[in-house]
Amino acid sequence: MLFGKHINRYYIRHLPALLLGTLALILVDYVQLLVPEFYRMVINGMNNGSVEVDGTLLPFDMTFLLDRICLPLIGIIVCMVIGRFLWRICFFGSGIKVETDLRGRMFDHCKDLSQEYYQVNKVGTLMSLFTNDLETVQDCFGSGILMLCDAVFLGGLALMKMAGMNPLLTGLSLIPLACLLAGGLITGRYMTIKWEKRQAAFSSLSDFSQESFAGIAVIKAFVKEGKELLAFKKLNANNENINVEYTKLSTGLRISITLLIESVICIILGYGGYLVHEKVFNAGQLVEFIGYFTATVWPVMAVSELIEMRAKGKASLNRISELLDTKPVVVDSPGATDDRPILGGIEFRDLTFRYPDGEYDVLQNVSLKINAGENVGIVGKTGSGKTTLVDLILRTYNVPDGTVFIDGRDVNTIPIKTVRDHAAYVPQDNFLFSDTIEANIAFASDKGSLDDVTRAAVLSDVDSNIREFKDGYSTVLGERGTTVSGGQKQRISIARAIMKDAQILILDDSVSAVDVKTEKAILANLRELRQGKTTILIAHRITTIEKMDKIIFIDDGKVLAVGRHEELLEKSPEYRTMVELQRLDDLESNEKEGD
Ligand code: ADP
Repeated sequence: MLFGKHINRYYIRHLPALLLGTLALILVDYVQLLVPEFYRMVINGMNNGSVEVDGTLLPFDMTFLLDRICLPLIGIIVCMVIGRFLWRICFFGSGIKVETDLRGRMFDHCKDLSQEYYQVNKVGTLMSLFTNDLETVQDCFGSGILMLCDAVFLGGLALMKMAGMNPLLTGLSLIPLACLLAGGLITGRYMTIKWEKRQAAFSSLSDFSQESFAGIAVIKAFVKEGKELLAFKKLNANNENINVEYTKLSTGLRISITLLIESVICIILGYGGYLVHEKVFNAGQLVEFIGYFTATVWPVMAVSELIEMRAKGKASLNRISELLDTKPVVVDSPGATDDRPILGGIEFRDLTFRYPDGEYDVLQNVSLKINAGENVGIVGKTGSGKTTLVDLILRTYNVPDGTVFIDGRDVNTIPIKTVRDHAAYVPQDNFLFSDTIEANIAFASDKGSLDDVTRAAVLSDVDSNIREFKDGYSTVLGERGTTVSGGQKQRISIARAIMKDAQILILDDSVSAVDVKTEKAILANLRELRQGKTTILIAHRITTIEKMDKIIFIDDGKVLAVGRHEELLEKSPEYRTMVELQRLDDLESNEKEGD
């Protein structure tokens, strides 16, 4: 059994099933303990030719065997089969329901966690919580109750029957069992620690594998397969060592149990034999006593298994609880309301921003205004803070009050969902799901038909490419969209954003992998489509954004200039230098192509 903030509720929720299971188990335990009485009757009957039943001496013949032994035994077997079936359904069924519900809660919680959480916690670790740890908790919930009930009822009833026959022999038998219980409780603590270490080692292994498979193209391109294999072997060896340590401990516990049980059998046979010799017991009674003791073996094993299982379950539940107790960092401010529709005007007022784990301000005193419906380009060197700026519009991170405004309202006073509902975003990594192209494009909208999907694909100039695939829009993309080229991936991502038809559209370096002609076509389509709606386009090349209503030129976290291309050429020497350098670069590339 496992207790904790996140699991207690399930004992109440599944109380009827757990009670029914417990009743069935008690019934099985009770009838199971009737069997040793039959051993006594058969042994005594064979020795004496008669058996004493309720004070009457009955002859040990075929009628007795049929009426008093076989028929009742068949009844006992039927009861045991039905009872076992029932408790299994009740306990294990509840365990599976707990696992399913907990998994659902974990997933639900994960989707609300902020970006920061995913930067610190890797996917592999999360996956092991959803698989290994959850399975351990389920095991502990279902089997844990069974073991506890068995230990209490079967063990208790058997001990009562043993004590009724001979208290001294029972007392002697109990000494090793008490040692076992004490040893198990002490070992349990170490096992929790070891299991926690084991799960952490497994998470590291899982993180590493996940990352290696995701980055397989890079690994191959740099011929680093050997290095990766070495690193994997190291983690694998660490995982193995921790597993071996855990197995040593658990095997030690199991061997001690077997040893102690054997020693009790020695005591029973030694002292019991003496009692038979002294005529305190007859042979049948000694066999009956041994029968009861045998029935206590499983409860004793169950106690030790329970100790081990609880140790594992506790460690896994701790890890799951840590996830469920993590509070999303980026949340709505109290009193945030969405009483007005969002038009798309954006303003930054003296915004200085540092990432939660950062060591310096990546944006410094940024002040600028984007009017609703404007077409805006953001340009600047890599690492100058362009992505950070648009991430803050979408409230990916917390921003200080009074620094970011949407339609004149502090972004912190608007619910995060409202802001994101009114924005479409094409992030740099252009993530595509392992689903059909149609589903990937339609993802942004709840009511998009195939016609809408096709229209969006035409506007992002990827329709003809999609039609060339054997299954067209029904083509299933490989994991992370690996079956399409970088440029196609970018354009499918743009189509997805177009589908949303949001008041604010943000494209982060989204046309870098397409040729100049396609880029021009997409930009012309966007200009046409996005009239009256705000579009923000981050680009490295000036040519991509030079026709925009406004260009924001960022360098090293500072906004150096804002205005039209011609204005910036005039007033910003740094912008002029960048334009000049890019022009020379283009000339050089053109000459090389001409050679
Ligand atoms: P750009 O989009 O202009 O290439 P970014 O906005 O992505 O630049 O990054 C600006 C700076 O912030 C960089 O120095 C980058 O290393 C840093 N940075 C980006 N993301 C994070 C993060 N999650 N945590 C800490 N620093 C970050």
